Amino acid sequence: MTEPAPPADDLLAQLRALQARDLPVHGGRTLAYVYDSGLAEVDRVGREAVAAYAGSNGLDPTAFPSLLAMENDLVGTAADLLDGPEGCVGNVTSGGTESVLLAVQGARDAHAVRHPGPDRPAPAMVLPDTAHAAFHKAAHYFGVEAVLVPTGERTGWRADVEATAAALDLLGDRAALVVASAPSYAHGVVDPVTELAALAAARGVRCHVDACIGGWVLPWAARQGRAVPPWTFAVEGVTSISVDLHKYAYAPKGTSVLLHRTAALRRPQLFASAAWPGYTMLNPTLQSTRSGGPLAGAWAVVRSIGDTGYDLLVRDVLAAVDAIVAAATDIPGLRVVVPPDSSLVALATDETCDAFTVCDEMAARGWYVQPQMSFAGHPPTVHLSVSAATRPHVPELVTALAASVAAAQAAGPVQVDPGVAAYVGALDPAALTDADFDGLLDAAGLGGPSDGGGLDLPTRMAEVNALLDLAAPALREAVLVSFLDRLQRPVRGGTGSSGPAA
Ligand SMILES: *Cc1c(COP(=O)(O)O)cnc(C)c1O
Repeated sequence: MTEPAPPADDLLAQLRALQARDLPVHGGRTLAYVYDSGLAEVDRVGREAVAAYAGSNGLDPTAFPSLLAMENDLVGTAADLLDGPEGCVGNVTSGGTESVLLAVQGARDAHAVRHPGPDRPAPAMVLPDTAHAAFHKAAHYFGVEAVLVPTGERTGWRADVEATAAALDLLGDRAALVVASAPSYAHGVVDPVTELAALAAARGVRCHVDACIGGWVLPWAARQGRAVPPWTFAVEGVTSISVDLHKYAYAPKGTSVLLHRTAALRRPQLFASAAWPGYTMLNPTLQSTRSGGPLAGAWAVVRSIGDTGYDLLVRDVLAAVDAIVAAATDIPGLRVVVPPDSSLVALATDETCDAFTVCDEMAARGWYVQPQMSFAGHPPTVHLSVSAATRPHVPELVTALAASVAAAQAAGPVQVDPGVAAYVGALDPAALTDADFDGLLDAAGLGGPSDGGGLDLPTRMAEVNALLDLAAPALREAVLVSFLDRLQRPVRGGTGSSGPAA
């Protein structure tokens, strides 16, 4: 307690040392989680803007008018980009999940207004099974049933329009929302938005287009002559659109935009409470105190790159995607699941090797690509979110990919011990005990807690992933929640010395 505080420079050095254990944010070799423009000056502007506004509070736009101005600027830019009609409104949120949560919350509350009285039908939304997991979180938070419509090879991994119509008819008055992706995260393809929005409009139901990952790519792709199916507010019946700035707008983490076609559609999202003795709370989004940092960072980056800059970045991304797709097609054992509409690539393996081992082999070669589990007939895949900064490294990426597949073939598909597989198959996700979880960790070779808190993560994840992949989604969720519970344990009595152990 009486120790003097360490000098600021020591603390910053400690932070840098800690950060060295993380995935690199720059360099174009991390193909999920981070998006790298490769423009050092843009990054600097973003960083300095975040720092300058880190203490500013968006809670009260009259007290911090500069935050309101930046937010209205960014929303206007997004509305211009996405064909927002006169009267289109929106907000900057903390990320894609918050934008999606609010779109579902708004739809639920509008549904309640449409069906007043005690016999209100339970609200439901219809989504392709490729829609982002954030919609399942929204279903969980807001009590809106998620009705999944299967996709597959048959539908080109895009939403099935006829089955969506049938699901809506079955729901009748329960329907509150139809969801489309532009594009889907797992497969990188754009849903038939025109058709889905028409189904929604014909029933007086909202239609949300989740363009969190594609919204800052597709408009330029279309202008560059790429075949992009219509998906913006130019499509009649689209009532709201989400687009993340912290993905392909290359802004620092912490910003997304949620647009509504009209102010009336946004109305249920706005919240005020005067039911306490403090300040009257008045919020447009989930957060109340909102750091000005991410907003200022996004404002500075979007202005810094500008329309011409994004045009060039999108050219780089799509050229990289084309080259990766062409090369992957020629690597024996590997295939592109579906030709992508945007900046995301899903790769599948044949029976000679498995996708999880390919991910490990790529990691061993300095590339992070993301494993995606099998789901409802979808095979396990390798996901690549391609950034502009990846373009100059595509030849190395392709070499690493070919070598990784060859190494995965030499190793053969991961074999899960039949006894372990039987053990996993017998587990009931609703009743997973700590003992079951310990058994699973041991089975996966993850061992016990390292130092009373936290777990030692293996460098190779293929065995763990293969084991999880055997489990049904509900069991996977239960296992991973137990895992997270063990990761998130406080370090007590520390003086902030939880720096690098090694
Ligand atoms: C990333 C993403 C989200 C969720 O966004 P977060 O910023 O991670 O909360 C939602 N939808 C799609 C399509 C995404 O790619």
